[in-house]
Amino acid sequence: MTGPFFLYNLRISDNKAFLEAKQKKVAYIQPQKQHPRLSQSLQSLKDNLKCHHITFQTKKTLSSDPYNCLLPPGSILTKKGTPFRNFAQFYKAAKKELDESTFFFHSPSLVKDSSEHKAHQTLKSFVKNKLKKYEEEKDFPSLDATSHLSSHLHYGEISIERVYKETHTSESFCRELFFREFAYHTYHFFPHMDIQPLQDNLKGFPWKKSKVLFEKWKKGETGVPIVDAGMRELFETGWISNRMRMIVASFLVKDLHIPWQQGAEWFMERLIDGDLAINSFNWQWVAGCGIDPVPYFRIFNPYLQSKKYDPDNSYIKKWVPALEKNYPKQVVEHSIQRKKFLAFFKQRK
Ligand SMILES: Cc1cc2nc3c(=O)[nH]c(=O)nc-3n(C[C@H](O)[C@H](O)[C@H](O)COP(=O)(O)OP(=O)(O)OC[C@H]3O[C@@H](n4cnc5c(N)ncnc54)[C@H](O)[C@@H]3O)c2cc1C
Repeated sequence: MTGPFFLYNLRISDNKAFLEAKQKKVAYIQPQKQHPRLSQSLQSLKDNLKCHHITFQTKKTLSSDPYNCLLPPGSILTKKGTPFRNFAQFYKAAKKELDESTFFFHSPSLVKDSSEHKAHQTLKSFVKNKLKKYEEEKDFPSLDATSHLSSHLHYGEISIERVYKETHTSESFCRELFFREFAYHTYHFFPHMDIQPLQDNLKGFPWKKSKVLFEKWKKGETGVPIVDAGMRELFETGWISNRMRMIVASFLVKDLHIPWQQGAEWFMERLIDGDLAINSFNWQWVAGCGIDPVPYFRIFNPYLQSKKYDPDNSYIKKWVPALEKNYPKQVVEHSIQRKKFLAFFKQRK
């Protein structure tokens, strides 16, 4: 089968799938899981394609990339022909493939709509003002040093090719783009990873079913300032930085012992860039059951993270101004919860 394929809302003028669809007057999509986020994107995509007189069809099997990816998911394999399970190895192979391919980039040929325009401005301003210091500053939430391109990429308001082209001089930023790529390539092989762990090393873990604790986490009332600041920013703005996502996710799983799937679901509800593949990939990474996850014994200490990445408390003060007054007591003791988490693995050996 030939023709352009879509997963998300690829309404962009400099995306090759869009141009191809315009030429052929047809676009295909693979039936996806029922998820409110995906149905929203799909409806918006249908509307956009209709404006351009492009027919929209659903096909069960697609032969090419339905994502906004640099390389078609499924195309980067180990020598044995299996999916990569290690990011460093995937990165090396994918980068080599990209460097060797005649990197094909379409110049914009259509008038951009306002969201595309905003996406391009965001990229331009990031490259001009922040790219050079990205490696140094990206983990400090008060510096706001990252690109904010995630939702533009998710909604196809800018192509990944364009972003790569403008930013590939930064090794550190490039790695993040390939991390995104790795998430999609993994999702291609494991389409149930939003629910099912990719490794069974947490099987039998005594998860807590506490609705009260989960609600406190969602509202930013755990009594742990850096976690509460992150959860409040997420609630109010729909976005938090990668460092903050790791801190709050680790706290839910390894301190509150609440299943990662519940946290992932909440993120999907709140995040403006909520993306089934990237979100579940990262939650599994944090929980320790994903492809090439963080080792189970490396548990984020939220207080040390706070000291390192928010040394003057400016981020905390912004989101938890009532810290001195009526601030709740911590709902759990980090050192005790950490020991309990580790004890599970010791007893399994
Ligand atoms: C628990 C958890 C859940 C997440 N859920 C999502 C999600 O639903 N949607 C989403 O787009 N990102 C998700 N991320 C990845 C990452 O946090 C965001 O992409 C990033 O914070 C978005 O901000 P930015 O565009 O300023 O990122 P930048 O730091 O400027 O990075 C540039 C781009 O690289 C990609 N990227 C960066 N970090 C990652 C990563 N860890 N994994 C995959 N791609 C990455 C994104 O496309 C991002 O826009 C999640 C991370 C964690 C730890």
